Amino acid sequence: MILTVASGKGGTGKTTVSVNLAVVAAERKQSVHFCDCDVEEPNAHLFLHPVLEEKKQIALPLPVVDQDLCSHCGKCAEICEFNAIISLPTKTLVFDDLCHACSGCWLVCPEKAITQGERIIGETESGQVGSLHFTHGRLRIGETQVPPLVEAVTRGANNDLVIRDAPPGVACPAVATLHGSDFVLLVTEPTPFGLSDLKVAVELVRDLGMPCAVLVNREGSGDDRVAEYCQEEGLHMLKGLPFRRDVAESISRGELIVKTIPAIKAAFENLLDEVLTLAEEACS
Ligand code: SF4
Ligand code: SF4
Repeated sequence: MILTVASGKGGTGKTTVSVNLAVVAAERKQSVHFCDCDVEEPNAHLFLHPVLEEKKQIALPLPVVDQDLCSHCGKCAEICEFNAIISLPTKTLVFDDLCHACSGCWLVCPEKAITQGERIIGETESGQVGSLHFTHGRLRIGETQVPPLVEAVTRGANNDLVIRDAPPGVACPAVATLHGSDFVLLVTEPTPFGLSDLKVAVELVRDLGMPCAVLVNREGSGDDRVAEYCQEEGLHMLKGLPFRRDVAESISRGELIVKTIPAIKAAFENLLDEVLTLAEEACS
């Protein structure tokens, strides 16, 4: 079961929900793997404090041109949709950051002048938090190819339950995180901004044909428009998480709220039951 916790914007409490859900699931002796897919700004480790035992560099193939073999025919530049390689009369140049590693140029080169090098785009780190498996990624500063690193974070996570914490928004990194998910938990807040971004996230998840449910975080801090929207759209709304000062204070200290506030732990127990039931129904 792959459960992705996503949101149309940052600051909704998505990571709070995903890390606390994972801890509650692991406490039930379930085999759980937590994947922090926000490789541009990973922060789940600040709450979970995993012991990181394994680090892997993630690379993409990169064309390397042998200028002595190159006849400057220009075929590589013609096939490149990203303008990442240009052929000048005296030199053929590769722009590493624009390359999408599609392999087109080295396949068409008639002189076999292009070989595969590699470009490091970031790294993944894996470890344990008690019985909970943990993986996150760190994108190299300045790197633009985010989805391949997200895929590297999710690769190999095949426990009974995999919880993916998606990057906020609906751009390519979020789509890469959603890929292969069995169920999506959309976290939002009861504000006009929360509603606006929820609508975009719902559109994406529906386009991808994935079952989902909506969770309102900080319930009671805004208005009813998210609930009205969910009703109009036939979206399943889970019992929301309350807006409480002690929750905010605990999060600001970097604590897991299921460990510090018993009533919140009970809420997460119920949330996990509800989500797993919905996900299993959707999968059957
Ligand atoms: S396709 Fe090969 S031979 Fe032609 S310009 Fe590119 S690198 Fe040179
Ligand atoms: S691998 Fe693809 S994207 Fe990269 S330079 Fe070659 S054709 Fe362009």
